[in-house]
Amino acid sequence: MDQGKLIIFSAPSGSGKSTIVRHLLRRDVPIEFSVSATNRAPRGREENGVDYYFLSSEEFKSKINSKAFLEWEEVYPDHYYGTLNTEVDRIWANGKQVVFDIDVEGGLNLKKQFGKRALSVFIKAPSLDVLKERLMARNTEDQENLNMRLDKAQSEMAYAKYFDLVIVNDDLEIAQEQAYQKVMDFING
Ligand code: ADP
Ligand code: 5GP
Repeated sequence: MDQGKLIIFSAPSGSGKSTIVRHLLRRDVPIEFSVSATNRAPRGREENGVDYYFLSSEEFKSKINSKAFLEWEEVYPDHYYGTLNTEVDRIWANGKQVVFDIDVEGGLNLKKQFGKRALSVFIKAPSLDVLKERLMARNTEDQENLNMRLDKAQSEMAYAKYFDLVIVNDDLEIAQEQAYQKVMDFING
């Protein structure tokens, strides 16, 4: 597929983008998830090749050097994340559109590269307090990682205006339905 499309979901950690992307993947939408690479450790039930390709720091850096990434970011200090060229090509070759769950800077980077072929969606929690509550309730981060994510969330919020679309994730069902409609319109448009 030469003119495959990209659907990019970005947001500060804890806003609900993974929840919304997982919902879309369960519905009748011709999309496939771009599994990113990272050097962070798996958490909970995360599986290699499903949630992420979990790499050592050395492996990650070697892929940067060999230009294996379409984009990559040091999202948090010493925590690297990146989109592999092979992943996107594989999904387009399958006749599907690619859906991304990536950080705000990575999302804007892809939008800049692909222009109208990309729909960039910013998921916004109703407030920073709500975001903090959700992140704490998710119970996946130790204190240091939680603080790192909350520190970054405030500055990331300021990027919302550069996205094609902002979805406020207050009531989850409403946010999921809105995401579904917009993605279907984009794919069919
Ligand atoms: P992100 O991928 O942006 O880091 P998650 O999808 O992991 O965020 O969501 C963070 C937490 O908030 C999860 O525990 C999720 O179940 C919960 N959550 C997501 N959306 C809502 C919502 N609208 N109302 C209440 N809790 C939510
Ligand atoms: P987490 O550790 O919670 O899974 O992800 C942390 C942040 O990294 C999230 O904002 C997530 O969207 C982002 N992220 C995941 N994969 C990628 C990627 O391939 N590139 C970029 N730039 N960010 C990513």
